[in-house]
Amino acid sequence: MSILVTGGAGYIGSHTVRALKKKNFNPIVLDNLVYGHEKIVTERLNVPFIEGDISDQNLISNLLKGNNLLTKESKIEGIIHFAAYAYVGESIKNPIKYYKNNVEKSLNLLESIVQFNKNSAQFIPIVFSSTCATYGYPQKVPISEDNIQNPINPYGWSKFFVERFLKDFGESYGLKSVIFRYFNAAGADPSSDIGEDHNPETHLIPLIFDVISGKKEILEVFGDDYPTLDGTCIRDYIHVNDLADAHIKGLNFLFNQKNKLKGFSPEIFNLGNGKGFSVKEVIEKVSLVTGKKINYKIAKRREGDPPVLISSSDKAFDILGWEPRYKEIELIIEHAWKWYCRNNSIN
Ligand code: UDP
Repeated sequence: MSILVTGGAGYIGSHTVRALKKKNFNPIVLDNLVYGHEKIVTERLNVPFIEGDISDQNLISNLLKGNNLLTKESKIEGIIHFAAYAYVGESIKNPIKYYKNNVEKSLNLLESIVQFNKNSAQFIPIVFSSTCATYGYPQKVPISEDNIQNPINPYGWSKFFVERFLKDFGESYGLKSVIFRYFNAAGADPSSDIGEDHNPETHLIPLIFDVISGKKEILEVFGDDYPTLDGTCIRDYIHVNDLADAHIKGLNFLFNQKNKLKGFSPEIFNLGNGKGFSVKEVIEKVSLVTGKKINYKIAKRREGDPPVLISSSDKAFDILGWEPRYKEIELIIEHAWKWYCRNNSIN
């Protein structure tokens, strides 16, 4: 069964591609390579790769019809949509870039899928990669899916709008979807041949590694005056392979839905470990796992950072039977560090 993975050359996408392969799906990666890594797809994952844009409706429609050489053996039966820009800070500086890329292009992609579904006996469902950033300042922690969504940055809004499209298109066109709201993706495949490789890097754990490796002089801790025990922000770190597994379960859930012509509501799931760690605690844990001292200083708050984000993932457990395999942050950090060392040629 072929699955089109948009943004499959990125961090969570590439791990999901590997999980799909392990479960005998045939993933096909579509990525425009603005942030993705082609070699990861062609040399490490060894799956078909198409360089292109999700907003290219000709390309998408041909792919779905099976007109593309790469896919003629097996038709695409599901889509996992990761492709997006994901830098919160940049989204505040340049919201148009985020709305054009994440919202407008996703709208084009969804339109292509809806058109295809309208003219075909087959009904292609979609799994959408969203974020806990759509909650903004949560009313209640741990955060369950019914928490009011009120994003505090354009990145969060851009994901929120696509969630809204999925709701409306489910209602009006019967488009079936699962929406995953991830908490903080971290770690790497234990094989350490794929992992997190952002340029620029803005995420806490790889930035701490940058300080250890000397790439970065000092880590700035963004604010220590938050209403938390040690004053630094608390986040829920979830292993990227656990996120990947959830996508397989999400796809299977959609394949098991009866064909309804209209009135499908997206099924929404939070994905996290249900445990929070402050920035200072993460620094301590990284120090413990790597045996290195980390040089850091307190800096001012970063715009758009809520103080505490911790997931309740009960719904994913109840409906999908999903449960994180990597519950210990030490193991998540260990996998991330192994990958970081290999990717940066550190012995
Ligand atoms: N953080 C920090 N210094 C950095 C990068 C991140 O103090 O150089 C903090 C950030 O404010 C947040 C947490 O680490 O509270 C996790 O940030 P990250 O960017 O990794 O993920 P986000 O929570 O923004 O998705």
